Amino acid sequence: MTSEAAASGGKEPIAMARKLETLNSEAAVGGAKPISDAEAERAFRAILEWIGEDPDRDGLRETPGRLVRSYREYFSGYEEDPAQVLRKTFSEVEGYDEMIVLRGVTFESHCEHHMAPIIGRVWVGYIPHRRVVGISKLARLVEIFSKRLQIQERLTAQIANTIDDVLKPAGVAVVVKAAHHCMISRGVHKRGSDLVTSRMLGVFRDQPATRGEFLSLVNADTTEQRV
Ligand SMILES: [Zn+2]
Repeated sequence: MTSEAAASGGKEPIAMARKLETLNSEAAVGGAKPISDAEAERAFRAILEWIGEDPDRDGLRETPGRLVRSYREYFSGYEEDPAQVLRKTFSEVEGYDEMIVLRGVTFESHCEHHMAPIIGRVWVGYIPHRRVVGISKLARLVEIFSKRLQIQERLTAQIANTIDDVLKPAGVAVVVKAAHHCMISRGVHKRGSDLVTSRMLGVFRDQPATRGEFLSLVNADTTEQRV
């Protein structure tokens, strides 16, 4: 069973999404003093002790170091500028003005409330206006924003807003469906529920038929397959 918490786009005001985006980019600047890998390892070691483990036993000796390397990967998205990724556009589109859809891109992120995994898929659609971008660049954009501490609503808005800002298309549509491990492995322990968020801009917001065409592709992809 799928519980759809926040489907159907166009409800949240743009200002809210912009505010969320600003918050995230401020967070990305981080604290004043950089923390070294050794300091981070010591922190993970303290957590191991705190849960009642012996960080010096054989199986755990390398764990703080492994955690540091894992966290580097989980949060590698702070080091990259997502807008820059989209700037290499192809401007000759021969008047192509049909919908371009990247379907079901997988992502792994972490929620900023529990640092628990968010595992899901993203559908990105846009209708170009003079400029298109390589499809792999859209996947890259998803990757950069997901490799940060997130809430799903902001992840969704950031992907859509960045495409809107850089490519200036006729419209952008983003749907994110994801399972939140903070709901699965702790708290309410709800397995099998997805959170669905969407953001529709331009013609996807203004034209129900265009939005419907995009959403029917998303629904076709998700009727048999879970995130
Ligand atoms: Zn959470």
